[in-house]
Order: sequence, then structure tokens, then C-alpha cells
Amino acid sequence: MTSIYDQFKMDLPNIMLNLEQFYMVTHINNNGSITYTNKKFLQTSKWTPKRVLGKTFWQMFPDTEEGQNKAHAIWSDLENGHPWSGTAEKITRYGDPYFVNLTAIPIIHSSTILNSVFLFEQDITEAIILRDQLQEVAFFDYETGLMSRHNLETTVNELIEKKEHFKLVYLQIDRFYKLIDVHSRESRVEIIKSFASRLKRFFQNSQIARISVDEFVIITQFGDWFIEGFVDFLNQHPIYSDHTALPLSISGGITRYPEDQGSYKHLLQAAFLAMKQVSKKGGGKIESLSSDFHKTLNRKSMIDEKLPNALTNNKLQVVYQPQFDCKSGKATLYEALIRWHDQELGEITPDELIPIAENNGLIHEIGAFVLNDAAQLAAQFKTAGHPIKIAVNTSVREFSNPQLKDKIMDILQAASCPPSSIQLEITEKFAFKAEEEHSVSAQMNELQKEGIQFTLDDFGTGYASFRYMQSLPISKIKIDKFFITSITTHKQTQKLVEGIIQFAKSMELSVIAEGVETEEQLTLLKEMGVDAVQGYYTGIPVTANQIEMT
Ligand code: C2E
Ligand code: CA
Ligand code: CA
Repeated sequence: MTSIYDQFKMDLPNIMLNLEQFYMVTHINNNGSITYTNKKFLQTSKWTPKRVLGKTFWQMFPDTEEGQNKAHAIWSDLENGHPWSGTAEKITRYGDPYFVNLTAIPIIHSSTILNSVFLFEQDITEAIILRDQLQEVAFFDYETGLMSRHNLETTVNELIEKKEHFKLVYLQIDRFYKLIDVHSRESRVEIIKSFASRLKRFFQNSQIARISVDEFVIITQFGDWFIEGFVDFLNQHPIYSDHTALPLSISGGITRYPEDQGSYKHLLQAAFLAMKQVSKKGGGKIESLSSDFHKTLNRKSMIDEKLPNALTNNKLQVVYQPQFDCKSGKATLYEALIRWHDQELGEITPDELIPIAENNGLIHEIGAFVLNDAAQLAAQFKTAGHPIKIAVNTSVREFSNPQLKDKIMDILQAASCPPSSIQLEITEKFAFKAEEEHSVSAQMNELQKEGIQFTLDDFGTGYASFRYMQSLPISKIKIDKFFITSITTHKQTQKLVEGIIQFAKSMELSVIAEGVETEEQLTLLKEMGVDAVQGYYTGIPVTANQIEMT
């Protein structure tokens, strides 16, 4: 029997042929599975026919809320028998984004069943990049006539220079993509234009900017109660689409200058965080952050600002905590831990510092600094004839550098430190990423071949830990201090730790317990058969100078 699609092809062979010359073409069946793609599609998307056929339509869109919402919006139009046409971001086989003008046409069989869909796409990536670049430097948002992001920054900086008091309000339309999904025939642009006109009417004499598809910033002198009133105003002045009021709600955050934050970057960041808090609670409100929150935020920004200087001026320090072998009772390894004391900020713990450094990219410098210090100490041990190793903590962000392996080897060589004297500690979060990203596990394997061993730190705090033992080159696990704390008081924890030790042994992994604070814990752990222990009871972190080399 001739299928609808065959019929269509028979009727329109020339049209199809012509289309295929100029457009990327994909066919999808009623389950959303890809059944055909032409050469043009394969070229742009970097897929091979073998790999792409049978993949779903949704897998061609970015795995972000925005990307998937767009895919669902298109699909829901098609299911309702409507064609869809618009701009869409898609991803290549390697996850790189590209932009297309997309026309999706449903073919309806027996008036209800969707038989096949054709997607005609035109690659407009270059045009989009150009538009975004223009948008970046442009003064106004071309859809709404509101200020652009670039203009907003200039405006705020001018106000700060003049020392004027003002409020920065960050607004986001709640679940915007779901909203336009339901009302897909009303153009997104029209909804945004109506929303912008509500903003202009309410926040008269204020400066308003559009900073992304569904995000807006208002610079205003109005009081908090007035700003918060925009939520009610929006309810009283709804935006209509097809004669029905859209259930439009917003989340918003307010920051004050100069009381809360002192720079454009920090004002925007704080207002964004306040908005996110509201949004997480379900949205529909505009709120300010508590003064405690601002204090934490200010401390974070100060750490962020002072860190580059502290690194160049050698203000960071490395301390070493011994690990004792249970059989010999000797310190066989020291773990390197970063320390930073700042006159103004006081003690900055690694738990505070590392996430900030991961964010601003300085984690690479910190990693190199600690490894260099550790390599010097390890080389000293070697020269003094001690078979003592040094463990260094690594963040997965450091492994985003594809040259990390070479960098590590260079540092060790310069310090005359044999790679076998160094162990790297990774967390389960790290292991999860390493499994996902081939380049991370490949570098780990290369480092292991050079003689560097890996330890899985904080064991038991993540999930699915057992899997990593098979796919990654891990030779040791470190049971998290959370379990050790209650090992003598909770029978359940004791059983769990016993289980972990047995599991490690059966996998021929060595097992260490960290956070050992009492003699009872130490005795019990020894009885259970751990290979080594680390903790305040057996030895606190000390500077390299305090370690005896005799
Ligand atoms: P971690 O790797 O689990 O390090 C052990 C932490 O427990 C250290 O805290 C150590 O001082 C502390 N500790 C040691 N013995 C005991 C004990 O008996 N009881 C208790 N309650 N705690 C104990 P620290 O130095 O504050 O480090 C915190 C975390 O920061 C580390 O956890 C590690 O994940 C990270 N970190 C530290 N230095 C570095 C570094 O140079 N690079 C990276 N990427 N991360 C680091
Ligand atoms: Ca560690
Ligand atoms: Ca740990």
C-alpha cells in the first residue's frame, strides 16, 4: 500500500528535490523518531546517518530548559496539526549550538494521526551571532525599544559616579517558555511588547532595560512597596492573547545602591540571586534580600576581588596533615590543604575559597600553586630517604584544561619529584563528570600510567560510587568524616563502614578513614581493618617547616 508520505513524494518530487538542495531536511515519525535526514543536515549537525536515525526529535535540541521547551512547543503545534515556523537553537552531535530558521510541517493521516513531519531548516548561525554582537553594543533592544544590556551598564555606572541613590530591580517572567508553548499562535514578540508597555506605564520616569528574552532590569527611585505593587498591576492589566488573559506572573529581586552593593556587577548579581530565590519558591513576587544575605555576598565578592593579588603576592599557604598507616603506625602520606589568612577578611576556609576560585577560573592557579608546594616537599622526603607521599586535592574544573596532564608533569619535573610520590584526591562529583567527559578520564588514565595514583575522597557522600571504581583509575577510597563521627555511637554507621571496608578489600583498593578525632574511633577502625587513618586525633595539619625530616 502506498503511504501518505510516498504519495506526497510522488506528487511533489520536484519540490522535494529542490528543497533538499537548499535546506536541511529531516523526517520524523509520529513518535518523534528521526527516520530520514539529507546531506545538508548531516554536514551542519555533524551526525552520521547510522547514529542519527532512530534518535528523537528532542535530542536535536539543547538539553536546557529553554531548548527543551522550544522542542515541546514545536511538537505540540505539530500534534495539533499546525505547522510551526520560527527560529530555533539546535545542537550538533558534539553539543555545539547552531541556529536555524525552521519550518516544521505535519502530514495528517485520516485527519487525526500524525504520520510524518518534515523539518526544513536553514542555517542562520552567522546571522544570529552577528545580531547578538550588534545587540551587545547596541543602545536599544530592537523588539521593545527598551534599553539594551550594554546601555544599562553605562547608565548604572554613570549614576554610581554621581553617587545617586537608586534601586536595581531584576525581573523575570515566570515559566515564559511554557507560557508561549500554550499560546504558541500568539507571537512571542507581541507578548513581550505588551509586557514592556506595562513596565513603561507602571515604572514611569524609571530606566528600563531588557537583558534577555524574558528578563528585565529597572533602575528606579520608587520605594519597595511601590515596586512590589507591579505584581498586582500586572494582574489588573493582563496581557491578552486570542481574547484570553495570559496567566503572566513574574519573579523579581531588588537591590539598593549604595546600601546593599557598590558596583554594577554586584548590584546585578545580588538582584538576580534575590529573583532566583523568589522563582524557586514558585514566583509571583518581588522581594529584597536580607541583610545577612548581603553580608555573605559581600564577603564572597571581597574574596573574589582579593584572590588574584593574594596569589601573586604569595599570601596563600599550604599545610600538611599526616596519614598514618595502621600496620606500621608511621606517617606514610601527608595531605596538602590550602590556607589563606587575610588581615581584613580573617581566615578564609577552603570550603569558602574553592567554589569562588572555580567560578572565577583561578582554581587553575591555586591547583598549580599547591601542587608545586607539594612536589617540593615530596622531593625533600625523597632526598632524605623517606618513602612518604603527598596527596593533593583536585577540582574537576582543573581538568577542563586539556593540557593539565602536561602541566602536572612539568611541575613535578621542575621540582625533581617522582610522579609516584604524588597522589590526587578527587570527589564523587568529580568522578561523575570524569565518567561523562572522555577528556577527563583520558587524562586520568595517562597520569596513572606516569605513576600518579587517584583516591576517591569523601566516599559515601555522593551516589552510585561503586560504578566509578570500574571505569576510572582509582586505587584508594577515603571514607568521609561524616561516617567516622558517629561510628562509635551508631550501630548502623558501624555496619555501613564495615561494609565499605569489605567492599574496598574485595576490589583490591586501599581504604582510609578521615576525621578520626578520638582513641575509640581509632581502635574500632583498626579492628575493622582500615589501612590508614587521618584526623585531628592522629595529627592536625601543620606547615612543611614543622615536619621533621630526620
Ligand atoms: P577534604 O579533602 O575532605 O579535607 C579534609 C578536611 O577535613 C580539611 O579541611 C581538614 O582540615 C579537615 N579535617 C582533618 N581532620 C579532621 C578531623 O579529625 N575532624 C574534622 N572535623 N575535620 C578534619 P579543610 O582544610 O578546611 O578543607 C576542606 C575541603 O576543601 C577539603 O576537604 C577539600 O575538599 C578542599 N580543599 C582543601 N585544599 C584544597 C586544594 O588545595 N585544592 C582543592 N581543589 N580543594 C581543596
Ligand atoms: Ca581530600
Ligand atoms: Ca575528605
